[in-house]
Amino acid sequence: RIVFLNGSFLPIEEAKVPFMDRGFMFGDGVYEGIGMLDGRLIDNEAHLERLERSLAEIRIPNPYTRAEWTRFQEELARRNGMTEGFIYFQVTRGVAERDFFFPDDPKPTVAMFTQAKSIADAPAARTGIAVVTVPDLRWQRRDIKSINLLAQVLAKQAAKEAGAQEAWLVEDGFVTEGGSSSAFIVTKQGSIVVRPLSNAILPGITRKSLLRLSQEDGIVLEERRFTVEEAYEAAEAFLTSASNFVLPIVSIDGRPVGDGKPGPVTTRLRALYLQMAAAPALA
Ligand code: PMP
Repeated sequence: RIVFLNGSFLPIEEAKVPFMDRGFMFGDGVYEGIGMLDGRLIDNEAHLERLERSLAEIRIPNPYTRAEWTRFQEELARRNGMTEGFIYFQVTRGVAERDFFFPDDPKPTVAMFTQAKSIADAPAARTGIAVVTVPDLRWQRRDIKSINLLAQVLAKQAAKEAGAQEAWLVEDGFVTEGGSSSAFIVTKQGSIVVRPLSNAILPGITRKSLLRLSQEDGIVLEERRFTVEEAYEAAEAFLTSASNFVLPIVSIDGRPVGDGKPGPVTTRLRALYLQMAAAPALA
């Protein structure tokens, strides 16, 4: 398995990050994750734009241009023989003696790896998944894609131990988002409901594409917060993320959503998304 570290492609066993890296010591960094289908990166410009924004917000200089990022991503996928899966890339503030203040001359650490994975034909897309709700214990800048994921680690582990595959995070009675996904419900009238962008959630790239596709398809969008109770009563629920596209949710806190099977609106949106991902130039 080949990974990318600071400009080099090398076997994962040889890819070593220094002990004093601020990513390791402070979680001082940001990351991105992007889906690949048929050897094509999906929505890469939007992911690179979000990376630029995350870096700017925490004041780490972006080490590469968009063209360089893209070249490294494609080269890494090629070297691993991956045409479908996930590419992870992160940037930390680099190596310095442990001190909270920024180093004077930061040299960001850049790490990237691939995970081959069947996204288009995932079994979970046919069966749907279970989610459980847990309190959202994260900080107040969730719009930054920080590598600090402790709250999500705990939330998703709690979900797993409750027999579910994702956690829905709840604040003030409203669902913010999933532990690693954007959260949607479909009303009995067939409109989709999603929380508006703010510092309370990550601006999901799949969310953005999905909203465009749903609007082109004439589906009514209600961009507003929704409560856990409203989710229990919804006709359908689903999540979106770069590594899963659109995934039906068939139970919330052990209660079946609708008839407990993936619903028609979710199924249609997944199909539209797959179509777009397979032929982006035509979308
Ligand atoms: N919210 C959170 C907290 C996430 O970690 C992710 C996955 N990156 C998402 C939403 C979905 O974002 P995207 O569609 O860009 O993968």
